[in-house]
Amino acid sequence: MIPSNINILENHPLAPLTTWKIGGAARYLAMPRDLEEVCGLMRLAYDRGWPLFFLGRGSNVLIADQGLPGLTLYLARSLLKLERQGEYLRAGAGVPLPRLARFAAELGFSGFESLAGIPGTVGAGVRLNVGADGQNLAAALRRVWVATPQLHLIELGRTELALGYRSSLLLQFPHWLVAEAEFELRNPAPREMIQARMGELLQARRLRQPANPRSCGSVFKNPPGGPPAGKLIDELGFKGRRVGDAQVSGKHANFILNQGRATAAQVKALMAEIQDRVWHTHHIALDREVVFLPEDLI
Ligand SMILES: Cc1cc2nc3c(=O)[nH]c(=O)nc-3n(C[C@H](O)[C@H](O)[C@H](O)COP(=O)(O)OP(=O)(O)OC[C@H]3O[C@@H](n4cnc5c(N)ncnc54)[C@H](O)[C@@H]3O)c2cc1C
Repeated sequence: MIPSNINILENHPLAPLTTWKIGGAARYLAMPRDLEEVCGLMRLAYDRGWPLFFLGRGSNVLIADQGLPGLTLYLARSLLKLERQGEYLRAGAGVPLPRLARFAAELGFSGFESLAGIPGTVGAGVRLNVGADGQNLAAALRRVWVATPQLHLIELGRTELALGYRSSLLLQFPHWLVAEAEFELRNPAPREMIQARMGELLQARRLRQPANPRSCGSVFKNPPGGPPAGKLIDELGFKGRRVGDAQVSGKHANFILNQGRATAAQVKALMAEIQDRVWHTHHIALDREVVFLPEDLI
């Protein structure tokens, strides 16, 4: 029996909650309103022995065709606090990164512009230290508050978070939920200048990325010291390569598009083919940027 005071949906489709529009259903799905409900749901999963998954805006996940067992917490509509506190900016985990960037711009602080084009949430953004155009979230991050499965709320400073290229300490603790983050407002600049810069970056992004929004952005991380993953994949002739309805973009070879009814199995087959070819040709092991659920969390 599920407690009646908590709204939990059963066998709820997850594909519509992801940008790729791929994947099966969640055995249980809850949309917590606040941190108290988040903690209540984490406790429920813990007590029942259910696997626990977090989902922000679903822009960096590939959900298995079989769906997810246990409980999925959909966080894109929760923890939406966004406020200035003196020299700092506090953002709840569910705040969309473009909103964070626009808010900082309105306050007249630079350093967040590149986040304006990243369609994810602050919580997932911290976990992966997202970034673009030579800027990343770590640059302005001061500390975060994380809820652990034992329901401790712990504070982690930027050094403890060990932020690197698309990585942080949190990758080792997939069941730690980022609840809130604090950023430094360090670089005052004229609002119009920041907004113009943001506009330029968004325009450049539109030119280099495919128009089809059904993707997860870059599928693979750029290999350290090597050419960008997109270039390696392009040079091997993968642009346009298709497995079922999963297709390597003709515009940006590190994007795989859902051209209709692509399945997770088709995307994985295409990714495996790419990794295999890059390895055999260059001896470079392409590392995934996209998170596979449930595999990466169980
Ligand atoms: C068109 C497009 C362009 C993109 N461009 C960029 C780019 O330029 N740079 C870049 O870095 N990324 C980019 N991305 C990838 C993606 O937007 C980011 O990785 C983003 O941070 C994912 O956020 P999300 O809320 O969608 O996370 P989800 O995809 O929902 O989740 C990703 C992972 O984070 C975990 N998670 C979610 N919320 C929390 C939380 N509160 N606490 C702990 N873990 C959590 C999930 O369990 C999952 O493992 C792009 C994606 C798309 C579709």
